Amino acid sequence: MTIPYAEVIGDPIAHSKSPLIHNFWLQKLGLAGEYRRTHVPADELSHYLASRREDVAWRGCNVTIPHKISVMQHLDTIDAAEVGAVNCIIPGASGLRGLNTDVLGLAEALSGCDAGGPVVLLGAGGAARAAVVWIKSKGDANLRVVARDRRKAEDLLAEFGCEGEIYDYLSAADAMDEAAGILNATPMGMNGFAPMPEDVLDGLSRLRAGGFVLDMVYAPIETPLLRRATDLGFSAIDGLAMLIGQAGSAFRLFFGETPPEDGDTELRVILTS
Ligand code: NAP
Repeated sequence: MTIPYAEVIGDPIAHSKSPLIHNFWLQKLGLAGEYRRTHVPADELSHYLASRREDVAWRGCNVTIPHKISVMQHLDTIDAAEVGAVNCIIPGASGLRGLNTDVLGLAEALSGCDAGGPVVLLGAGGAARAAVVWIKSKGDANLRVVARDRRKAEDLLAEFGCEGEIYDYLSAADAMDEAAGILNATPMGMNGFAPMPEDVLDGLSRLRAGGFVLDMVYAPIETPLLRRATDLGFSAIDGLAMLIGQAGSAFRLFFGETPPEDGDTELRVILTS
């Protein structure tokens, strides 16, 4: 019997936590299936997709760096057009379909947060796009983008037709004044990357009471940004909440089942050990 499988593709790929998450759920639910990690360099992407089209056991794949945008040209339908990046592909009657479950993961992670009012976004890269789509979905989008490259932030706002202000990191504290919350969509604070600037950490106190702080970084789980947020009494949401949220949406697409609701604590232990 052929075992159905899904996988995550990228270059590099060794760091991906997706196999841990999906295989944990498959095991918990007792489903026959497998989730793999597959190294696909940019010059093999087209060949990879052509071979998977013919593979009846293949249920789809997650897509990570550096393919999230370049993969779109190889797909037949794209449900993630509004994000401009694909992180999930599934096969179907009409060919390969691309989606973006990062927005769903973000929405799940932030479901209890009040996003009415200005929201601060650190970064203007790929993950920031999902954040902009989420902020726009809240209706009266009022965005304050903090970026080291002003032009990229301008392009981001223009591409999504968003009203917003742009700040550099020296004036990050001003961006946070009476804001509803802040999302970090940069690798700052991640193990092996630049630290979160003190101007950002010090500026957190200017968020309005009851504000939220979401850090997409999940290594470490408690970043200096989240530690400061907790100390100040804000809702601190870590990167695993978004990671597990986006994986849950992909799991439903790949395997047709909802991940078990009672496994999050155990899964978090696995993901952090
Ligand atoms: P990306 O496309 O490379 O964008 C990174 C952004 O961060 C860019 O705007 C970049 O600025 C900025 N940046 C990088 N280093 C910086 C520094 N030292 N100072 C100031 N700005 C800096 O990466 P991405 O895909 O958006 O990912 C961003 C982070 O989110 C990563 O840590 C990733 O692991 C995380 N992430 C988490 C999840 C989750 O589920 N939790 C999902 C997606 C991404 P420039 O454009 O000027 O280079």
